Amino acid sequence: MAGYTPMMQQYLAVKEEARDALLFFRLGDFYEMFFDDALLAARELEITLTGRGAGQEERIPMCGVPYHSAEGYISKLVDKGYKVAICEQVEDPATAKGVVRREIVRIVTPGTVMETKSLGDAVNNFIVGAAEEAGRFGLAACDLTTGELYVTSFAAGRETVKNELNVYRPAEAVGDDAALARLHEAARAGGRTLLATVRDGGPDESALSEQFPDERWERHERVRLLAVSRLVGYLGETQKRSLDHVRAVKSYDPQQYMALDAFTRRNLELTETVRDRSRKGSLLWLLDRTRTAMGARQLKRWIDQPLLDRVAADDRLDAVEALHGNWMLREELRGELSEIYDLERLVGRIAYGTANARDLNALGRSLARIPALQQLCAQLGSAPLGRLAEGMDACGDLADAIRSAIADEPPVSVREGGIIRAGFHERLDELKEASRNGKTWIAELERQERDATGIKSLKIGFNKVFGYYLEVTRANLGALPEGRYERKQTLANAERFVTPELKEKEALILEAEDRMVDLEYELFAALRDEIAVHIPRLQRLAEQLSALDALQSLAEVSAERRYVRPKWSDGFDLKISDGRHPVVEAVAEGSAFIANHASLTADDGAILLITGPNMAGKSTYMRQVAMISIMAQIGCFVPAKEAALPMIDRIFTRIGAADDLVGGQSTFMVEMKDIQVMTEQATERSLVIIDELGRGTSTEEGMAIAQAVIEYVHDSVGCKALVSTHFHELAHLEETLPRLRNGCMAVKESADGVTFLRKLVAGAADSSYGIYCAQLAGLPDSIVQRAYGLLASGGDRPSAPALPVLRESAAAADAPETASRPALARAEESLPLASEATVRPGIAQLSLFGE
Ligand code: ADP
Repeated sequence: MAGYTPMMQQYLAVKEEARDALLFFRLGDFYEMFFDDALLAARELEITLTGRGAGQEERIPMCGVPYHSAEGYISKLVDKGYKVAICEQVEDPATAKGVVRREIVRIVTPGTVMETKSLGDAVNNFIVGAAEEAGRFGLAACDLTTGELYVTSFAAGRETVKNELNVYRPAEAVGDDAALARLHEAARAGGRTLLATVRDGGPDESALSEQFPDERWERHERVRLLAVSRLVGYLGETQKRSLDHVRAVKSYDPQQYMALDAFTRRNLELTETVRDRSRKGSLLWLLDRTRTAMGARQLKRWIDQPLLDRVAADDRLDAVEALHGNWMLREELRGELSEIYDLERLVGRIAYGTANARDLNALGRSLARIPALQQLCAQLGSAPLGRLAEGMDACGDLADAIRSAIADEPPVSVREGGIIRAGFHERLDELKEASRNGKTWIAELERQERDATGIKSLKIGFNKVFGYYLEVTRANLGALPEGRYERKQTLANAERFVTPELKEKEALILEAEDRMVDLEYELFAALRDEIAVHIPRLQRLAEQLSALDALQSLAEVSAERRYVRPKWSDGFDLKISDGRHPVVEAVAEGSAFIANHASLTADDGAILLITGPNMAGKSTYMRQVAMISIMAQIGCFVPAKEAALPMIDRIFTRIGAADDLVGGQSTFMVEMKDIQVMTEQATERSLVIIDELGRGTSTEEGMAIAQAVIEYVHDSVGCKALVSTHFHELAHLEETLPRLRNGCMAVKESADGVTFLRKLVAGAADSSYGIYCAQLAGLPDSIVQRAYGLLASGGDRPSAPALPVLRESAAAADAPETASRPALARAEESLPLASEATVRPGIAQLSLFGE
């Protein structure tokens, strides 16, 4: 430090407190960065790097951004995964002796951004705290913008951590080394990065009971305490303020919800699509008709955590049914909801002291809608909605307080007056009156002076430097009487003057205005603080409103898309009649979606083995069964004519190949690992879906493994399963496995080619049409003919159909042939170009003719 200027010494001392952050050091109207911070910021923000003498011989690197536009720069850095420490001047430079005192007032990090502009309204921004101890894992997740805090714990393991982390997808984590290593691994597997900060030790019980006075911590497992304590400690350190809106802890066990591993969530495209990770095309996108941002976030949480508790699911279904059945009231309700602002985030800003008068008005106007909403809920006549309405606290006192205090159209700034409504505060009204009178007096003076001098263009103006002045154009200067005016400023073609009485009045007006602005701010801040006391009430209300919004959203979609209420089957059996895939159906608007039954029952076969060519609709069918189960368990109606469903504890999917190359492992290895996890975790109440089981290795091996896995699921797991395979040979399993049935997607062959009927029928497919697909994809004729030739010369195997296929098999749809054709399957294997990916484009046109 020696040799540095006092200011630089101060900088270096402050920097010590935030070594892992970029330090924004306030100097007058700029935030400056120095040394390595400057080099990095200049690069990342594309701003000019300069230098500065700092007392030593060499100049040090420096760059800066103006304080009024700092927010954009800060969020840019935070988005890139950096932490930014904001250091402010904390005493008035005018009165300070020596170097102005400066302190870090907040550290902005990816998990603690409050400025929602960079976040998006419909998504949460979670930061997690984690702890691993004695084989147990504690996970706490907080969204600072809304004040939500969730905590859970489970057996520490790669899969368990991955599954739970997927619900939150945090940008940042704090915890001990072991816990962070697991979180990193889980984030990487999901193709995400995580900013991690090590924090071990704890729990700090006194800090916990101070932050959460109502929580009985002795009821919680120790890893939960550790996770919350570390998280809250970190939040305190970075935010440097009391977190009044983080007072309630929502704790749960992962077993309360349907278990969905990351792969399954992704594959079923619950909240984002596999291909481009967009919301559009996902189940969430389809179901989201919420009218508030908090409702949208709630709906996402519901989809992320389908229920296992029948009573809770029925509550939601009852409410959805009532809303579904009354579109008039639903429309009204939707109208009311759309007038409601994001209370959760408003509350966050109130707690942070960053809410302005417009925010309070938004809050007040939202609260004013509550009584109407309560009434609508009561009118709908469903018990859960009735309870919801009754339990709502409309916070009328707060709405009144806001309405009486805040003007209708206040400015954005809270330091410039114009905030408080007339009639709210006597002294303020007096000051306003004084200022108004002063201004009338000035207007009057202007008129008098014009009359007295005869100068029509004489005017009185105001600026910050000179205050009020009389302005006379150069041409009229001659008409001014001598001695009455004091010259103040000369412009190009005018002169400005003042008079003693004008100065006197000015002092009165300005003083009144100064006091007015200060008083308005004081009154506003007092109201904001007063509302902050009621944050828990507002948060409870926000939670009820989000639930209501999510419910109406489910009802709206259910009504529009003709979904039906699912029934719960008592035990094991799953029966869906005329089920549809919700998203495929919605996207393919116009071309009809072919509905299919599903029946997975203890007596009639719990495993369905589906054979059939590519593009026949196998994976759509299997996914739709999973989607319908998930929709039912989040409390939504389902796309079917009728559905009787069991509560499914876990859905396990192993689908497709091309999409999990993230980890750089071979597809086959990934498949085997996933199957291993399934064998370990699936229970009788689970639903297992395996698409294209056994591909990725030689035909013989693949088939052997497929058979062994199916037998294992059949004999040892005993769950419901949908398995697709292109090994037609496996159809024989129906004879030896009593709980397995064969099914296939019907195909119609005619003179024009092959038509996929997309209808599931009993029995095994008789052909995989692999070479036919290759032909459609445009492979040279010589290859195609050669392939058929090879296929036909396969010794005692049945020969391939001549092309174009001429066999009109009307029977296909109703009673398909069940004979399997090993030779065909093998030929498809040996023709790599006929893989799903290559064939798709050509094949898609296939259904155009014939259907
Ligand atoms: P497979 O798994 O047999 O290769 P997919 O399930 O991927 O076949 O379906 C292929 C195409 O057919 C998809 O693009 C899908 O949109 C469409 N499809 C599938 N099932 C149906 C159906 N029941 N009704 C209408 N179109 C369907």
